[in-house]
Amino acid sequence: MTSEAPTVPDGMGPHDDEPHGDGVRGRLNALRAAVLGANDGIVSVAGIVMGVAGATSQRDTILVAGIAGLVAGALSMAAGEYVSVSTQRDTERALLEKERVELEEDPEDELAELADIYRSKGLTEELALEVAVQLTDHDALGAHAEAELGIDPDDLTRPWQAAFASMGAFILGALLPLLTITLVAESARIWVTVVAVTLALALTGWASAASGDAPRGRAIARNVVGGLLAMLVTYLIGGLVGRGVG
Ligand SMILES: [Zn+2]
Repeated sequence: MTSEAPTVPDGMGPHDDEPHGDGVRGRLNALRAAVLGANDGIVSVAGIVMGVAGATSQRDTILVAGIAGLVAGALSMAAGEYVSVSTQRDTERALLEKERVELEEDPEDELAELADIYRSKGLTEELALEVAVQLTDHDALGAHAEAELGIDPDDLTRPWQAAFASMGAFILGALLPLLTITLVAESARIWVTVVAVTLALALTGWASAASGDAPRGRAIARNVVGGLLAMLVTYLIGGLVGRGVG
């Protein structure tokens, strides 16, 4: 045996807990964001229309409140997502810039650093150095960004895309309680909405657990109970307020 046993320090490398490639991870993140957005749309607009329905049985009033809630929530989601993803992209850019400067000022140390990373992943010293040299020749910044930061410099997070995606997801979710409570006959609208929202929340709870590989049952239960509570609370408060002003 000539090769020494590679030692991998605990917690080294950006992907230790994630066996997937970046593409899969990116798609999973997008799916998770969409599910969360839809969930938000269901719960907030269900809460709004139930609150108003607790105060009045006038369909037009419920519809106006629901649409206002849908538009306000969708815009708030988009703005929030835009801000947070922009901040993330700024951080990525700053890290890349720092790496670029380091590569310019201290290429030897950076080469050793890159070789070290591949050695810690199990390559022999010679092979790790060879890999580092070839990667550096090919695209030094890209190699360092990938190995050290887990960032693809050609594929930074996109704020507008994230903003539109969560806005769309919120609207889709919000449409469900809005449509059931305004289209179903007055005698049944509350219960049809509760049932529809319960089923939808079970679905989003299942999807978010599945995308994060978490226990499905508990996620579904938490999600459904949370949504039902939100509807119950706004309905009761809407009823109180309605009696107060009516
Ligand atoms: Zn570096």
